[in-house]
Amino acid sequence: MRNNLKKITEAGITLVVVSVFVLCYYVAKDINTVVTENAAVAVSTASNMLPDILLDAGHGGFDGGCVGVGGELEKDINLSITKSLYYLCDIFGYNTSATRLKDIAVNDSGIEGIYDMKQSDMKNRLEFFKSSDNAVCISIHQNQFTDAKYSGAQMFFSNKNPLNEKLALDIQQSVVANTQKENTREIKHADDMFLLTTENPSVMVECGFLSNAEECKKLGDKAYQKKMALSVFIGLNKFVKENYSA
Ligand SMILES: [Zn+2]
Repeated sequence: MRNNLKKITEAGITLVVVSVFVLCYYVAKDINTVVTENAAVAVSTASNMLPDILLDAGHGGFDGGCVGVGGELEKDINLSITKSLYYLCDIFGYNTSATRLKDIAVNDSGIEGIYDMKQSDMKNRLEFFKSSDNAVCISIHQNQFTDAKYSGAQMFFSNKNPLNEKLALDIQQSVVANTQKENTREIKHADDMFLLTTENPSVMVECGFLSNAEECKKLGDKAYQKKMALSVFIGLNKFVKENYSA
């Protein structure tokens, strides 16, 4: 786990410059303007007080997560969005780590059986979220429901840290403003989510519904994934700016 994280960090640094150019190419013009404004914020508040950013791309490896109407796997969409978010956080000055930046599960080796592997995988993700005393933790997922009509991103938060609700709200508002203007969903309280039991500020980002054909098509699109990552970053950066002092 530790070695993996070290490798992930090193790989991230080498890819930062490339990813920013790719990102700027793909995102809409108005989003680029917001990035420019946020860059100034991140640089001007840079200090030891800034939180580490701990990112989790949900599922991976043996665990595909939910499946889209066109066969899209949740784990792949989670990974793509998390990678873009990782590079953004990194280049704007945050000490950033991720559970995975490739298609792997993070369970301990030597464990057999899907159930036990999943238990170990989730335990390690929570341990990762607890690995820093000053971190903001974000887990990226896609949603699914039996009724295909439902759509829209939604942020889930627990009562474990008093800042959680603000974090969820800032990210929800940014995603709506920058990517899903039609989305009327509200942030949701969820104390039973295992990963949200960390003491650090944390949020579960459900980017949208793979069970909705129209939204699934968008979420599978690389440019839309980058736009989603950027929207999450803008909400995160606003949260840091307002709750951590230089
Ligand atoms: Zn999921």
